[in-house]
Amino acid sequence: MKKRRVGLMGGTFDPIHLGHLLAAERALEAGGLDEVRFMPAHLPPHKSAPPAAAPEHRRAMVELAIAGNGKFALEPIELDRGGRSYAADTAAALAAREPDAQWYWIVGGDMAMYLPKWNRIRELAERVRFLAMTRPGYPADLGRLPEWLRDRVTAADMPALDISSTAIRRRLAEGRSVRYVVPEAVERYIREKGLYRHADAHDA
Ligand code: ATP
Ligand code: MG
Repeated sequence: MKKRRVGLMGGTFDPIHLGHLLAAERALEAGGLDEVRFMPAHLPPHKSAPPAAAPEHRRAMVELAIAGNGKFALEPIELDRGGRSYAADTAAALAAREPDAQWYWIVGGDMAMYLPKWNRIRELAERVRFLAMTRPGYPADLGRLPEWLRDRVTAADMPALDISSTAIRRRLAEGRSVRYVVPEAVERYIREKGLYRHADAHDA
């Protein structure tokens, strides 16, 4: 039987934005995936500061953003596990839970070149393949990756969207518009909960 091809869109989603959604949509196509799961990290290992918004808010915004897309789902495994969200732990747990799936870890260009530094990357790369989506400002020269890893990474194009959660948080703190940059329902949620009103806010 053909293995189910599952994409994992990992991220902090602080907040989720159109760049994440388009990356996932194009990854579906590029990887011939059956579904993409959006997987908020509890604590991203590569960031020194904790996320600005609490896990339940980041999760709720993801759910609002993907509602209505039958191929998108939430994967709460890293939020449920707590602690630092090491991809290698996640991939091992997913493989044990769903041995019949083939896993595709979706990353933007910034993360793709950083892969050699990921914790236990060799173990991770044995369990998953990577789909590296173009991201403006981060030219991904996959040829520079070590060969054993290069073979596990596929580059995929998407229209350049120069959008980041960092820039969105900054805009919100300055009282500027984030319309058409995050889904409408996400913007409404941010306003309702009063998230990101201060530049350095944590757990708003
Ligand atoms: P922050 O500025 O807080 O780091 P971010 O916009 O980079 O936020 P993350 O949650 O860190 O969002 O990213 C999750 C994943 O989505 C990463 O693999 C990242 O490379 C990818 N990604 C984020 N924004 C884009 C974008 N505009 N185009 C392509 N990939 C993106
Ligand atoms: Mg980022």
